[in-house]
Amino acid sequence: MTRRLAIAVAATAALLPASLPDGRRWWSYVQFLADDRLEGRATGSAGHRKAAAYVAAEFERAGLKPAGTDGYMQPVRFHTRKLNETESSLTLERNGESEELVLGQDAIISTHIDPAPAVDAAVVFAGYALTVPEQQYDDLAGLDLRGKIALYISGGPSTIPGPLRSHYQTMAERGRFLERAGAIGFIAIPDPHHMDLPWQRIAPGSRQPSMSLADPALDEQHGLKFAAAVNPAQAEKWFAGSGHTFDDLLKLVDAGKPLPRFPLRASIHARIAVERGEAESQNVAAVLPGSDPVLKDQYVLLTAHLDHLGIGEPINGDRIYNGAMDNASGVATLLDIAQSLNESKPKLRRSLLFLVVTGEEKGLLGSKYFAAHPTVKPASMVADLNVDMFLPLFPLRGVTVYGLNESDLGEEVRAVARARGIRIQDDLEPERNIFIRSDQYSFIRRGIPALAMKVAYEKGSPEEKIAKTWLKERYHAPADDAKQPVDLECAGRFNDLLRALAEAVANRPERPHWYPASFFRRFAQ
Ligand SMILES: [Zn+2]
Repeated sequence: MTRRLAIAVAATAALLPASLPDGRRWWSYVQFLADDRLEGRATGSAGHRKAAAYVAAEFERAGLKPAGTDGYMQPVRFHTRKLNETESSLTLERNGESEELVLGQDAIISTHIDPAPAVDAAVVFAGYALTVPEQQYDDLAGLDLRGKIALYISGGPSTIPGPLRSHYQTMAERGRFLERAGAIGFIAIPDPHHMDLPWQRIAPGSRQPSMSLADPALDEQHGLKFAAAVNPAQAEKWFAGSGHTFDDLLKLVDAGKPLPRFPLRASIHARIAVERGEAESQNVAAVLPGSDPVLKDQYVLLTAHLDHLGIGEPINGDRIYNGAMDNASGVATLLDIAQSLNESKPKLRRSLLFLVVTGEEKGLLGSKYFAAHPTVKPASMVADLNVDMFLPLFPLRGVTVYGLNESDLGEEVRAVARARGIRIQDDLEPERNIFIRSDQYSFIRRGIPALAMKVAYEKGSPEEKIAKTWLKERYHAPADDAKQPVDLECAGRFNDLLRALAEAVANRPERPHWYPASFFRRFAQ
């Protein structure tokens, strides 16, 4: 070996751990968290409490310091709402004819907002019901929505950049503009060409209780009284007699075009029975203190959600929604990194804050609560690296990074990946809204630069097919359990990449910043 080569090897060795993790320890965490005994870890359930206790014990074993409000725990309180479907009804009235809709088949009544017991109102088709002030785009402009219900198709015109389109489609934003326009509720028709979940799994999901944070300051329901979703396969009847067909509207959606907006000759009559309750569930937080006398008071967050869907409607005789990939896998990644750091004991300048949150499946609620009530100073949180369902289903060649071009965390992840021969790619499917669909978004809204990462596939590749088949067969289904095949080496390499990224962010001189052109930078003001 020449000396030059020896130096090169030594330099690489400094970046890589002595042996790459083989994923086996990671898998042992997944197996525990996705076991039937934890009953799918529903927010507020005994199974979730067991899972949280396990995570806290593993954090302690890895030498991390408690960073909750009660040891490692941060309890979060919720209001719960469950639709009593047999006591509820939804009738669609057109031209004096009324049709009682079959709940679950034609439509579902949502309890994401707290509905009024009776709603009788005209329905207006509001296109995408999207308002994007930055683009002078407003589907609600010129529509008379006072006292009415806005019916819309999910999505937005392709002229609006992905992150903006995603941000303004959140309930918090869309609800704000609907309320301002005087609407009393909304009915969404999912775009059937961009549904991660088929309707057959959306309908049973709606029978699970909904939750909102008990903290009134964090309520984002905007006084709306009614929310529902229509099965796209049954959507045509809503447009009868309007001069438009759902089919024609979908063609415009597919082409990324704006949609016409018009009153429908329809109104709804809803009777809604809701069982209300209270619940408590835990975030779990732990710190690896930094070594720099000044920078140790800054925190790099590593986040993953612990909760999943619990016990629900049986599919193939199985009622336990184990959530092995969603998201025992991400929590296991954090535990694996904590244990690796405990072994390698690197000197990190900043502190790492490991945060395992509850209530993600209920609307990012645990992370929203922590971001509003952090156990460290709000301004001391410099970055969030989130892992949710990263899907190690085939060998790791690349990683998709959500938020890649929004902050200089993107440069950090590129450098770390380059040293490992891992390709980095941007979000190829902004229409799936992934950047706002997991817990990083709770921190982004507080101005904290963030990334989320998944194992990448290329468009049209066999790997894409594997990932898409996984969504169809296992996403939010009991088949997402510890019996499914996964690629352990892929998971090990992914975890190694994330650990190295966390170390790099902890050690860099300046705290991360949003790029001036980033849409999300506004939240940092
Ligand atoms: Zn999920």
